[in-house]
Amino acid sequence: MVRIADNIIECKGALILGAGIAGLFTALKLAPFPSLVLAGTRPGISGSSAWAQGGIAAAVGEGDTWQAHAADTVTAGAGLVDPLVADFVAREAPERISDLLAMGAPFDRRADGSLAVGREAAHSAARIVHVKGDRAGAEISRQLALTALASPSITLAEGFHAIELAIENGRVTGLFARTGIGPQARLVLFRAPAVIFATGGLGALYAVTTNPLESRGEGLGMAARAGALIADPEFVQFHPTAINIGRDPAPLATEALRGEGAILVDETARRFMLTVHPDAELAPRDVVARAIHREIAAGHRTFLDCTKAVGAAFESRFPTVYAACRSAGIDPATQPIPVAPAAHYHMGGIASDAQGRSSLPGLWVVGECAATGLHGANRLASNSLLEALVFGARAASDIKGTISARPARGEPPAPQRFNSPAPPHVLRDAMTRLVGLERNAAGLTEALATIDQVERAGGNEPALLNMTATAKLVTAAALARRESRGGHCRTDYPLAQQPAQRTFLTLADAENIAAAPSAGHAVAQQ
Ligand SMILES: Cc1cc2nc3c(=O)[nH]c(=O)nc-3n(C[C@H](O)[C@H](O)[C@H](O)COP(=O)(O)OP(=O)(O)OC[C@H]3O[C@@H](n4cnc5c(N)ncnc54)[C@H](O)[C@@H]3O)c2cc1C
Repeated sequence: MVRIADNIIECKGALILGAGIAGLFTALKLAPFPSLVLAGTRPGISGSSAWAQGGIAAAVGEGDTWQAHAADTVTAGAGLVDPLVADFVAREAPERISDLLAMGAPFDRRADGSLAVGREAAHSAARIVHVKGDRAGAEISRQLALTALASPSITLAEGFHAIELAIENGRVTGLFARTGIGPQARLVLFRAPAVIFATGGLGALYAVTTNPLESRGEGLGMAARAGALIADPEFVQFHPTAINIGRDPAPLATEALRGEGAILVDETARRFMLTVHPDAELAPRDVVARAIHREIAAGHRTFLDCTKAVGAAFESRFPTVYAACRSAGIDPATQPIPVAPAAHYHMGGIASDAQGRSSLPGLWVVGECAATGLHGANRLASNSLLEALVFGARAASDIKGTISARPARGEPPAPQRFNSPAPPHVLRDAMTRLVGLERNAAGLTEALATIDQVERAGGNEPALLNMTATAKLVTAAALARRESRGGHCRTDYPLAQQPAQRTFLTLADAENIAAAPSAGHAVAQQ
C-alpha cells in the first residue's frame, strides 16, 4: 500500500524504534554516530525494560567463568541454542556490564566494593548483577535515558506510534509513524540510512501477562509484513510466579525469591515441586510454570511462600514485589503470595545474524524483538537484558563500520498523545487459552481461525495487522512443531523429536499453515 505522509524527516544517522534498554544502549554505543530514538512512551520508563526485577547475567563473580555461563545457557535452551552465540554472548557479558557501570548504572556492591551477584534458577553459579534488590530495570533504564539525553548525538522522541516499514528498491529506508489524535493526527515518514528495531516482546497479546500493554509484538509484525525472516516464534516463556491478584498486566514475583529459598505450595501448604523435578523450585522456568499450571488445572490454589526464606527483610530486599503485594492487602513477610504463570518473554523474533542484521537489508534488530539463537526453546533467567546489551553493541559497531551519516532534513512535529488500538480481548483470550503453556492441534487450529476473524474485522488497521501477523506466526509455528521442547508443550506430541531444529519462516509460510492447518509442516526447520 502506498502511504502519503504529512511530514518527511530525513535522519542523519540511525533511526532506532524503541526506547527500552536495547534501544537506549544501542544509541549510546553508536555515539558519536548520530541516532534518533523513537518510541511510544517515555525513555527511561518505556517497555518491559523498566520492569525488569532480577538483573543481568554475567560471569563476574568469584570462581565463575563465561564458559559455565554459556554451558548453562545451552542447557536451558533445550537443544536449540546456537552454541557459538552462547559463547560470544557469555564472553562479552563482563565488558557490557563495565559499559553500564561507565554509563552510571548503580549496581549493588558487596562490602569490599566488588559487584554483588545473586543466583537464579538453572544458573550453576551466582552471576546476576542487580540494583537495589529488585529495581535493576527501573534504575538502569532511568540512567541510560539520562545519559542519552545528555549525549549531543542522540535525539529522543516519545509519543510516536510506528505502523509500517518504508522499503525502497528492496532496502528498508525508514518507517511510518503516527502522532496525535483526531484533527491533530499526523503520519510522519522517518527516513534513515540504517533502521534498528528495539521494539520488545509480545506478552500483551496474551490475556495473562507480566508485560506492559505496549509489548504487543508490533515490531515483529511490521518486519514480517515487510517479508523478514522470523525465527522460533512458537517459543514463548511463561513466568511461573506472576502475582495472582486479578491485575492486567500481572505484577511479577521475581525468580530471585526462589533463588533465596522461597518455596511453592498449594492451599494446604503442600510443597508440590519436590515430586516434579530434582531442583524443585529452581528447575527450569518451563518446568516450574507447567507444574503450577497443572496444579491450578487440578483445582488447587498456588502460592510462593517467602516467609521463611526472606521474612522480615522482604520490604528492603524486594521493594517492588513488596509494594505490589501490599497494594492487594498481602504482607509477603508473613503470608504466602498467590501466584500463577503468565506470558513473560518471547524467545523467538525477527531472525538476526551475529551483528544484529535482519534478513531485510537496512534493518537491524536488537533486544527481545530479535531471535539471535541465544535462547533456544527456553531462555535462561536474566539473559535477555544481557542479549540486548551484547547485540546492541555489535549492531552499533556494524552500523558505524558500514553506514555513513548524511545531512538531516525536516523537523518532526511535536509529539503528542496518540491512540493505538489495543489487541482485542478475543485475541488475547485465544492466545492464553489455546497458544499458552499447553497446546494441541485442535486448539491451535481454533486460535488461527480466531486470529483470522480478528484480522478480517479490523478493516486493514495497520497496528492491528501487525499484532495479528505476530499472533499468526506464533500459532502457525506452534502447530507446525509436532513435538514438545522447552517452552513449547504439545499435549498431543509430548516427546521431543531428534534432531532438534530451529524454525525459520516468513509470514507467507504462516499464512499457508493457517490456510491448511492439517496439511503438516510447511516451514523450514534447520
Ligand atoms: C516484569 C518483568 C521482569 C523482567 N525481569 C528481567 C530480568 O530481571 N532480567 C532480564 O534479563 N530480563 C527480564 N525481563 C525481560 C526484559 O525486561 C526484556 O526482555 C527487555 O527489557 C526487553 O528490552 P527491549 O529494549 O528489547 O524492549 P522493551 O524494553 O520492551 O522496549 C520496547 C520499546 O519499543 C517501543 N515500541 C514498541 N512498538 C512500538 C511501536 N509500534 N511504535 C513506537 N514504539 C514502539 C516501546 O514504546 C518501548 O520503548 C523482565 C520482563 C518483565 C516484563
